[in-house]
Amino acid sequence: METDYARLRDEPSGTPSCDSAPDFGPDFAAIGDKVHPSNIRRTPQLLALDAHGRVLNWISWQDAACLYSREAIAWTLGEPCIELRGGISREHGERSTLALHPIIASRGHVRAKGWDPTPNLTNTALFARDLQLCMYCGEHKPRGQLTRDHVHPVSKGGLDIWENVVAACIHCNSRKGNRTPAQAHMPLLAIPYRPSWVEHLILSNRNILADQMEFLRAQLPKDARLRNLRV
Ligand SMILES: [Zn+2]
Repeated sequence: METDYARLRDEPSGTPSCDSAPDFGPDFAAIGDKVHPSNIRRTPQLLALDAHGRVLNWISWQDAACLYSREAIAWTLGEPCIELRGGISREHGERSTLALHPIIASRGHVRAKGWDPTPNLTNTALFARDLQLCMYCGEHKPRGQLTRDHVHPVSKGGLDIWENVVAACIHCNSRKGNRTPAQAHMPLLAIPYRPSWVEHLILSNRNILADQMEFLRAQLPKDARLRNLRV
């Protein structure tokens, strides 16, 4: 199950990060049954927490390996999900390995109390927030048939913010036109809202491991739509 993860180096890494490259190369394999072989070429990111267990961000395996090698890990959750393979030891003749856990709490990265940044508003995140449903007719649509609808139209002063946008199918969006839902007699099925940081982490990662999803879901408000989202 070895694979080439060198391309991951080009992807943005979260918090915390490392300046120096880890000693372990990209010659590694997913282990256990946490990562299905069909997902191997997707990005298995690790969930970083501060030492108090507060959620920070997704981090790459490179940054995680760096934290492990610097002994900057306070504790971990879940069974190891990625095994990195290093060089052969001259002393023992054995290959060094490093097992990475799906959730890692690092020393030295403390999240400020009340830290809840506004996630970027992208169509991908918006459609995921609305569970791929048109917020007018309620139909489940593929991404290509969904649009970003401004509840209060931009032409009438509406803002391009989470609280003023919903997923709408092409048909409903064109039918609504430059009107508010009340003017168009098209009531919204749900009130648009700004996702919390935890919701954003769920919405922004399509390859969340079961342990990670369980941890994140436990942090969601009881009425959050994403509580029922399946991994
Ligand atoms: Zn619709």
